[in-house]
Amino acid sequence: MPHGYRLPGLLLAVCFCLAACDRSTPESPSEAVQLTPPPAAIPDIEWRTHGNGPDEQRYSALDQINTDNVAKLGLDWYFDYPTNRGLEATPLVIDGVIYTTGSWSMVFAHDARSGELLWFYDPEVPRNWAVHLCCDVVNRGVAYNDGKLFFGTLDGRLIALEASSGKKVWEVQTTDRERPYSITGAPRIVKDRLIIGNGGSELGVRGYVSAYALKDGEMLWRFYTVPGNPEDGFETPAVERAAETWGGGPWWEIGGGGTVWDSIAYDPDLNLLYIGVGNGAPWNQQIRSPEGGDNLYLSSIVALNPDDGRYVWHYQTTPGESWDYTATQHMILADLEVKGEQRKVIMQAPKNGFFYVLDRATGELLSAEPYATVTWATHVDMETGRPVEADGVRYTDGPTGLHLPGPIGGHNWHPMSYNPDTGLVYIPKQDVPWIFATDEQFSYREGYWNTGTDAAPASMPDDPTIQAAVLGMVRGSIVAWDPVAAETRWEVEHAGPWNGGMLSTAGDLLFQGNAEGQFVAYRTDNGEELWSFDAQTGIVAPPVTYRLDGEQYVAVVAGWGGALALVGGDALKAGAIPNRSRLLVFKLDGTKQLPPAVAPQLVFDPPPQSGSAEQIAAGKDLYLRYCVFCHGDAAVSGGATTDLRGLSREQHNDWLATVLGGKHWQNGMVGFGGELDEAQARNIQSYIIERAERAKAAQE
Ligand code: CA
Repeated sequence: MPHGYRLPGLLLAVCFCLAACDRSTPESPSEAVQLTPPPAAIPDIEWRTHGNGPDEQRYSALDQINTDNVAKLGLDWYFDYPTNRGLEATPLVIDGVIYTTGSWSMVFAHDARSGELLWFYDPEVPRNWAVHLCCDVVNRGVAYNDGKLFFGTLDGRLIALEASSGKKVWEVQTTDRERPYSITGAPRIVKDRLIIGNGGSELGVRGYVSAYALKDGEMLWRFYTVPGNPEDGFETPAVERAAETWGGGPWWEIGGGGTVWDSIAYDPDLNLLYIGVGNGAPWNQQIRSPEGGDNLYLSSIVALNPDDGRYVWHYQTTPGESWDYTATQHMILADLEVKGEQRKVIMQAPKNGFFYVLDRATGELLSAEPYATVTWATHVDMETGRPVEADGVRYTDGPTGLHLPGPIGGHNWHPMSYNPDTGLVYIPKQDVPWIFATDEQFSYREGYWNTGTDAAPASMPDDPTIQAAVLGMVRGSIVAWDPVAAETRWEVEHAGPWNGGMLSTAGDLLFQGNAEGQFVAYRTDNGEELWSFDAQTGIVAPPVTYRLDGEQYVAVVAGWGGALALVGGDALKAGAIPNRSRLLVFKLDGTKQLPPAVAPQLVFDPPPQSGSAEQIAAGKDLYLRYCVFCHGDAAVSGGATTDLRGLSREQHNDWLATVLGGKHWQNGMVGFGGELDEAQARNIQSYIIERAERAKAAQE
């Protein structure tokens, strides 16, 4: 039974406070009272919503920590979590308590002053649900309202907890458990309701966003982002109009995609809710909608009326999406002067590589210029608002060339930050190429990876020269984007892609963790690095800042994981940094030290190869179909899951029990006995042994 684990610490704190309050009463009423008022307390400024306000700017007006003193920033406390998978949460700081989420949708409450764990809640997501996830067992955080916390779970539930105790108040299933839906995004609160989407396009689902009453979890409305089977009729006029842009089916059998798995923003003045809509299911439009069409509302920003979920406007970034080009990336609301006119804008850097500025009242396109390397389109036509595609990018007549951005995106979910002082948007940007080709043998397998493309993550060709050329194109950086001039102001290079989300402050500081395991502060105006801290693990989550008892803190959850950490292989470049799941809290003159890092050593000691060259090749094909999205390109782990090349001989003895029988299902490694026969499982093993032999030779 899922339940909260109440720890005695909070109780002790309450007792202490009562005692202290008692002692503060004057001993005698006749005692002379000094009338000089105490200095006014500096009010606490906390981080109370996901994006630090409905505009999701992730900017803080705090400036106690600034460019002059950031060199003195030090660790104040840390807390290690007992999991070893990805952490992507934005912690909330409310009334002196930090609420964050961890792997497997767990929720943790800490005393923000001491770090003490007050309670944690485990919704007990079945661990074999991991096979229905594209991108690790992550969660991006809770929402808070009036003493309650709200969060989604990997298996599609929306749960309300008492913030004081972690006790469950209500729970609703927001998805069909028979389909491979998941929730990793944070719910947002708009008025008296929660807005929550879901994910799972690659596995085969139909996207939607729903509103639930805060008080009891009653569903208030649901907006489908793509049409279902036309024979069943349409839920809304907006979906009926969308259906005119799809052709030939059978997208509804696979689901069509369009999941709203992360970004949501809200403008209270316009009373408009903005949702970012994901890619098509399957990716390959030739299979999904063979007669073509724009396939609305895939890859779009859609504005809705939050009162009833009615459609207001949309802008589609990638018509006829065929490359996993989600528009689920972080959306920021700001008021900018564009071409001499004050505009209320919404900004997004979706996966497709263009930075969009739209008028958020109407959806009018104001600018669209590339922030990352873009080969799939030459530009966006400002008359039509549509991208002008390059030749051959739809892989209708054979594979594409090296294609940028790849499915991991020029920018993924990692939040940006908009700083009104500099007028810049800071983007965690990356270039990771890919080759798209139609999967000629495609057949839909519910609950498994269904892209309709050859799973060819630029697929590390065996030729080392080509491999080096591909890897040479892989980059990661911070781009400081000027949304008025629509151009890059400055850029700071990282070792590789998949770096953390952003925070900027009035102290002229930009904070970001990275794939190399460093947590870094930069100047907001030119990107100069001013301070860094060795977190001993890759960081993908965005930092937050707050002021408590007059003192400013910066906090971030560290812990390597997420999509590219699973699939990345050698393309990660920063190396497979192991996951160490922890919450880090910093202040000026903080003196806490982390325990020494333990460097893991991969040992390659495979059993003798018994497979033939043909069997190894067949094993590679099967690996790309069944294994690559958790265990990495070319069996090189990104650090978030087991590196199969390092399996011991003993583990190899357990091969069939594990791969077919599901011996380690509790770690998320389900058995594939229903999918693979013994000979196929052995072929995969031969491929792994071949990869391990190569790694061993390279090490010697
Ligand atoms: Ca996707």
